[in-house]
Amino acid sequence: MVSFLFLGMIGPVQAGIDSSFEPAGWLKFAGDHFVVLCSSSDDEDLAQDILNHAEDYYNDIADDIGYSRYQNFWTWDDRVKIILFPDQGSYVRVTGQPPWSAGFASMYSELFKSRIIVSYKGQRNFLEVILPHEITHLILHDFIGLGRPIPRFFDEGVAQLEQKDAGANRMDIMARMITGGKIIPLQDLLAYNLMAHRNDALSVSIFYVESLYIVDFLVKTYGKDAFKDLCRHLRDGDSFEQALKSSYYPTIDSMQTLQEKWFDYAKQYL
Ligand SMILES: [Zn+2]
Repeated sequence: MVSFLFLGMIGPVQAGIDSSFEPAGWLKFAGDHFVVLCSSSDDEDLAQDILNHAEDYYNDIADDIGYSRYQNFWTWDDRVKIILFPDQGSYVRVTGQPPWSAGFASMYSELFKSRIIVSYKGQRNFLEVILPHEITHLILHDFIGLGRPIPRFFDEGVAQLEQKDAGANRMDIMARMITGGKIIPLQDLLAYNLMAHRNDALSVSIFYVESLYIVDFLVKTYGKDAFKDLCRHLRDGDSFEQALKSSYYPTIDSMQTLQEKWFDYAKQYL
């Protein structure tokens, strides 16, 4: 089954927590680009493990998106703070997140001068799924620019693609959804409002799965360079469709042709 998690990205008001969060007695472990905060000295090994993974993801994801690693963003005072609550109860209480939330990243760094990723201990998929997912959101927004609108499907597609969960590649399921008419048309996906559909679990899961496989299709079929080019066009202020056209022309010149190419590609998995 395709992995699907509610991994959000929200603002400081909803988050109930910001980068000034540093309760007395909590421990801090600093790397080049990240600082891990946890509540107990028993967590030193875990914190170190998180830090090592985060630094590796940083390099890989920046590379995939087109950030030069030599630009060395997020150092010193700009380091991303990873806040790990000891348990789900305290996480929900302090952040005000719903109990089904597994973690989130907050992007409002311009206000707080730092970026945060917040989650809680004991989730077996934290290192492989939640951490790379949230780091991707932060890097993507940092690269493209905080003021630039990134279509949510693209944001979630790239974040899921960077997850390290094995066996998530189920193009056969996606292909059956496409031929069964179960997918969201790409033109609608572009404007999809996650919050407006939050009570429709089926629609939301289709949204996530579809987002992943469209981005996956672009990267696998047309390569990393064209994908980086797409990210650069978004950074330069192009609309998504314009950026798509600039990077994949003449093969893809609209959401409509992307949808047609994607359908053709999916058919081989039936
Ligand atoms: Zn996400």
